Amino acid sequence: MSWNNRGIFRTVKFRVALWYALLFAFSAAVSFLLVFLYLRGSMLRQTDHKLTGYTDKVLYTYLTNDKFKRFDREVPLERVPANALEAMKRRMPDLQVLLAFERAGRKQHYYTVIGYADGKLYELRRESGGTVFTRRIQTADHIPLVRKSFRNMVAEEGSSNLFFRLLTPDGRVIAQSPLPQAYPVNANPDPSERFRTIPTSPPFRVVTERLFDGNILEIGRSLYYVQRRLELYSLIFFTTVGSILCLGVLCGWLIARKFISGVERLNAAAQHIIQSGDFSRRVPVRHDGIEIDNLVRAFNSMNANTEKLITELQHITDDIAHDLRTPLTRMRGMAEVTVSGPQEIAQYREMACDVAEECSKMVTMINTMLEITRTESNLETISESRLELNSLLRQAYELYQLLAEEKGQIFSLNLPEETVMISADKIKIQRIVANLLDNAIKFTPEGGFVTLDLTTAKGMAEIRVSDTGCGIPPQDLENIFKRFYRADSSRTLPGNGLGLSLVHAIVEAHHGKVTVESTEKGSVFTVFLPLC
Ligand code: ADP
Repeated sequence: MSWNNRGIFRTVKFRVALWYALLFAFSAAVSFLLVFLYLRGSMLRQTDHKLTGYTDKVLYTYLTNDKFKRFDREVPLERVPANALEAMKRRMPDLQVLLAFERAGRKQHYYTVIGYADGKLYELRRESGGTVFTRRIQTADHIPLVRKSFRNMVAEEGSSNLFFRLLTPDGRVIAQSPLPQAYPVNANPDPSERFRTIPTSPPFRVVTERLFDGNILEIGRSLYYVQRRLELYSLIFFTTVGSILCLGVLCGWLIARKFISGVERLNAAAQHIIQSGDFSRRVPVRHDGIEIDNLVRAFNSMNANTEKLITELQHITDDIAHDLRTPLTRMRGMAEVTVSGPQEIAQYREMACDVAEECSKMVTMINTMLEITRTESNLETISESRLELNSLLRQAYELYQLLAEEKGQIFSLNLPEETVMISADKIKIQRIVANLLDNAIKFTPEGGFVTLDLTTAKGMAEIRVSDTGCGIPPQDLENIFKRFYRADSSRTLPGNGLGLSLVHAIVEAHHGKVTVESTEKGSVFTVFLPLC
């Protein structure tokens, strides 16, 4: 297969390799997309978690004017013990609780609550002794510490990666850390959407939170490292997938080549047969897989059959030519002798009779040949009907008894008591019995015995024709069912070697079988036909 005629693109190998590659690329793309989205989502969640942590810290400082300590944990209001909350409410009945912190120090453990009452912000703390402390909070006083905490937190990650802004509801800046150059300053951040990704370069993840007093806290964190990590993952993924893809295509090609090798061998053999007409060529089975092996076996047996058929056809053609030439030569001889002899009408009449007889033999032979061929190739439909074998054999017996008597033979019939029924074509079965009886009587000398038996066994009717004739030599036994085959010993007797071929063809068409056993003392032909 040359590359320049583009035939390679139409080969199964190329198509298999291409499909492999496409399938692989598609599944790789889908899995990459899923993994990428999962990684991106989990990295964004990590960033959001970090931003929430910053929000808590800023809020704590903003409310308490104190640095967020590890043991000050914001807790849900339900976690605050009911008696502590009740004590605080007794102290300040209008209290609207905003936040609660749990302080679990080494010596003390208490809850601090921050809330509103009369439009003012208070911090209430119930200590273990039961005393409730109250403190008014002035958030404006806390701004310097908030600013400082902004600075400290920015110092940890760098001002290009992290920024904080505290704004009034109308967008006036109360406090802010230095803003990264890439970040477009938004004077009025929208707190309705808590987390947003700003598509700058690098992108920023921003949390915007409206505080209890209306002020807005905005904290942004660069997604530079997230982006870099995703880019790295993509690079690793595409490099790996690329190399696996190339490998996959190569493997696909090699696998397809291996599987297709059996077909290529078949093709080479078929081409050879087309060009040379040599049907003896066989393709070796190389275990390329059951399907290919079966194909190779089928091809080989098809070749063997064709070879056998052609050989048989050649023999048959030879035999036909031979069998037709003899009577034709005979007819020509008779005609020449008659024409060159005395011109008497009686001689012409005799010649015409001989010619008619020879012609009738030839017509019979040709008809039998046609019948064999049609029966073997199922061209002739067999009109099967329920057939009673007992009466059919009795009729045949009555018909042939005269002939046997003429030849001085003892002909006997043995029928079972029960009726034997088969499903068959009556005329064809009569042809079988007639052919077998013809032969038995023909090949049995005067004083010999011919017997016709009918029995049943294993769901089969068995028609047996036995004789005490000359028998068939062992070397001829396997050939007697072939067309035109005649044992040397029988060449002096009339016949054309087609009778047993016809018997064999008819029996096979009825899904039965015919067997022969023969010794010098006689022959036994048995026809097995399925009972119905
Ligand atoms: P034909 O009888 O016309 O020669 P058949 O096909 O009927 O052709 O038989 C083929 C050959 O088988 C015969 O020529 C003969 O040699 C052998 N044969 C068949 N039947 C018998 C038999 N009963 N006894 C001996 N030889 C037989």
